[in-house]
Amino acid sequence: MTTTFVTGVTGQDGTYLLERLLEEGTEVHGLVRPGDEAAPALRRRHPGVVLHEGDLGDLDALAALVADVAPDEVVNLAGISSVATSWAEPVLTARLSGLAVTALLESAYRLQESSGRPVRFLQASSAEIFGQPEVEPQDERTPLRPVNPYGSAKAFAHHQTAVYRGRGLHAATVILFNHESPLRPTTFVTRKITAAAAAIGRTGEGVIALGNLDARRDWGWAPDYVDAMVRALRHDVADDFVVATGRTHSVRDFAEAALRRAGVGDDWERFVTTDPRFVRPADASVLVGDPSKAERELGWRRTVEFEEVVARMVDHDLELVEG
Ligand code: NAP
Ligand code: GDP
Repeated sequence: MTTTFVTGVTGQDGTYLLERLLEEGTEVHGLVRPGDEAAPALRRRHPGVVLHEGDLGDLDALAALVADVAPDEVVNLAGISSVATSWAEPVLTARLSGLAVTALLESAYRLQESSGRPVRFLQASSAEIFGQPEVEPQDERTPLRPVNPYGSAKAFAHHQTAVYRGRGLHAATVILFNHESPLRPTTFVTRKITAAAAAIGRTGEGVIALGNLDARRDWGWAPDYVDAMVRALRHDVADDFVVATGRTHSVRDFAEAALRRAGVGDDWERFVTTDPRFVRPADASVLVGDPSKAERELGWRRTVEFEEVVARMVDHDLELVEG
């Protein structure tokens, strides 16, 4: 039986990945922060999962844990996952989303050396490594030019993964463009919008205060991106794979689609306002990925389009407001 160690198992992607791996009979070990409120529910839902308490920032303990679990596969999803948080916590971001990845890679490499059996590694990389790209769409050969602490930490981790690949570790990355689901926190613009749109749809009152309405993102469906992770991890050749839809929409488009879905109709603009507090000091303006390599080499396909992503998130939030 394959044993997989997953960090970030309580997050959006970790939740979907855990379900997927358990379904296929993998023994899953997950890292959870001490006192993480999501852990007891996770244990109840999935009695098969083995959860280990630890902090990604405690690099020695992390290395010891990997040596102890001795997995066949390591999937690193944990870290600071929000650009906004990375501006508030740049040093922590570098530690968790940059340095800790090196510690995990080194642990996987040492395990491979000491056990004499291959260990596979998958890093959740990000479109933010491209920052302000000169080419559109971005693919695996696009130069890395991050413009925020999150992208910079992810770029370092991305390079480190390639370094360990060169050293003989089966270390792959998925360069993930934004992907959403009802599990997204409201710190991200999509869920902020769908949660607010649902409340407005229910009461006919309220306003969604947003930053840059013209910012465009390539938004996909999270479970599709988790499928790409599994494919990249199990692929014969460890490599980098862009996972994206290849289509962008603006924050304004998202707000319109969400408010219409919530039942507001043509009047939707009345419920959207801009607030300078939500405008970023530097924003990756247009990020759009070319997933051709993942499609060609991994046989990956997205299954859910933008309109359906919005609809599923709004419907979920409508159910929540309706109790
Ligand atoms: P998420 O929901 O924010 O999950 C992050 C996970 O990391 C959570 O389980 C969190 O645990 C854990 N974590 C944070 N700090 C930790 C620490 N100090 N020690 C141990 N665990 C810690 O992120 P996601 O959306 O699932 O994304 C998964 C990965 O893909 C991330 O690396 C993200 O940067 C990358 N990515 C995501 C997107 C996207 O659109 N979702 C796009 C590009 C790249 P707690 O529950 O305790 O906070
Ligand atoms: P990110 O792409 O990982 O930073 O995901 P976000 O969902 O946080 O942001 C996506 C885009 O929406 C960025 O270009 C933000 O500048 C833009 N945006 C506009 N208004 C808001 C807002 O109120 N909250 C957030 N989080 N982003 C906003």
